[in-house]
Formats: sequence, C-alpha cells, structure tokens
Amino acid sequence: KVEKEWVISTKNPLAVFQISKILLYFKELVRNSNPTYPMKQRNLFVAVLLAGLGTASLTFAQQNPTPPPMPPQATEFYTPVPPKVTPGAMNNQAPSDAIVLFDGSSLSGFVSAKDGSSPAPWKIEHGELVVQRGTGDIQSKLAFGDAQYHVEWSAPPEIVGEGQGRGNSGFFLMGIYEVQILDSYESKTYTNGQAGSVYKQYPPLVNPLRGPGDWNYYDIIFKAPRFDKNGMLTSPATVTVLINGVLVQNNVILKGPTEYIGIPNYKAHADALPIKLQDHGNPVRFRNIWVRPL
Ligand code: MG
Repeated sequence: KVEKEWVISTKNPLAVFQISKILLYFKELVRNSNPTYPMKQRNLFVAVLLAGLGTASLTFAQQNPTPPPMPPQATEFYTPVPPKVTPGAMNNQAPSDAIVLFDGSSLSGFVSAKDGSSPAPWKIEHGELVVQRGTGDIQSKLAFGDAQYHVEWSAPPEIVGEGQGRGNSGFFLMGIYEVQILDSYESKTYTNGQAGSVYKQYPPLVNPLRGPGDWNYYDIIFKAPRFDKNGMLTSPATVTVLINGVLVQNNVILKGPTEYIGIPNYKAHADALPIKLQDHGNPVRFRNIWVRPL
C-alpha cells in the first residue's frame, strides 16, 4: 500500500527549515527595501508573499511525494540466471566452458602465423610447447574478441642473453596487442618491455615472476576495441593481467596495436582475431593454454 507523504511535514524537518529560511529572507528584503511604503502596507505585502510561497511549496510537495520506503525484495532479481560452470580441479585448470588451445597433447589448435594455414612449426616436448627459433610466430585456429585467457610459460633455465634477448616471447591478443613474455626475473630492460608489460605502453605494476625454468601463470582479461562503420575507433581495447595470481595490469586502456618503433595508432579490424605466440628466437616453453570467450 502506497501512502502519500508530504515533503513539508514533521518527517521532513530539513525541508521545513529550508523553506522557513527562504520566507524569512523575503520578509527582510521587503522590510529593508521599501521604507517609503507605510508599515501596514508592507506587512500586507509580506503576508501575501508568504501565502503565495507557502501555497507554491505545498503544491510542489503534493506533486512530488516522497516515495515510500523500498522493501529489500524490490532490488532482488531472479532472472536471468548465470549459467553454471564447473571450475577446474585446480584454479589454473580449464573450467567447463573454456576452449582448450593447448593441453600438452597436440598442436592442432594452432597454425603457422606466416600463412595462417600450414601446421604450427613448434615442438612438443614432455607435454610442453617449445618455441622453435626462426620458424616464426604461431596463431590460434580460432578467432577471439573479448575473452579471458590462461597461459603458462617458462623461460629457458640456461641463461643466454640480456634484456630483450633473454627468454623473450609474447602473447598477442587479437594477434596485434602484445602482453610481453620475457625472462625479466633478474635482468634489466626497459620497464614497459619487461614481462607483464603491455609492450611499450604500460609497465607491470609489480614484478611477481618466477625464475628461469619455473612456470609463470598469466591470466588475462581482454576487451576488444570497437570501431564504427567508417573504421573510426569508438571504444579502445582494455586489458587486465595477473602474473602468478598477482595483478600487474589493472584494466589499462590500450593505445593501439603494439609497435616496436613509433606511436601506436588504431586501425579498424575484425571483431574476432586469432591470438599469436611469438617466436623471438628463444626456446620459451608453454603449457596449459585456454580461453573463455566473453
Ligand atoms: Mg616479446
């Protein structure tokens, strides 16, 4: 049952206070500004003014009754129901609604990025995917837009090279936006090029890497950019990255596709594109790659 409540009532002392203040202000104004009028006339004017204002306030209040208090049930919704998903036995394992891109058994989820069709030229050793130097990047057969990714990688235990030459690979969202993979556990390089950086755009917030030979877990939440029919950017891509459960990119806004040299600049592309893994000449290992399109 909806009961009418008036703004001007003892239940609303603030409104009463405010309106009284306004009325007193007008009374003072009249009293001080019209000394030529006889006091009686001025008092009459004030009385008329007060009556007018009072009526106006009351009318306003009647037209705008304070809504009755909401019951808690009014903001409890039962549909639509979020679908049930069975999580992996461990939190790094693919949940029931994920697409597994690599589980250690086969490279059938990938092709060579050179032509987008020939078999991925990397090797599987002990269930781990190993970059083969000089064979080029590989890309997923399937295309993705907004998505949640999980990927595990390990830098070569034999330390070779420095900076960008040590354990370098990359996880390219839509094939063009790189989340850097690098052995920057104890190796100096530019911060916006170390592991967990959005390459040459954002350094990671912290460095939670495990050392060479150990496995690092990346969890990536990506929102694809949007373009209008003229190819103009309407909404930039954003990415959130966790390394080993630690947040390193907090929903950052991508400036455009990854550039080694020069300023990034968006160019319209498809809503969904394959991910790429980078051959940067180092035998980085991968395992347990899965994706949940969003
Ligand atoms: Mg790289």
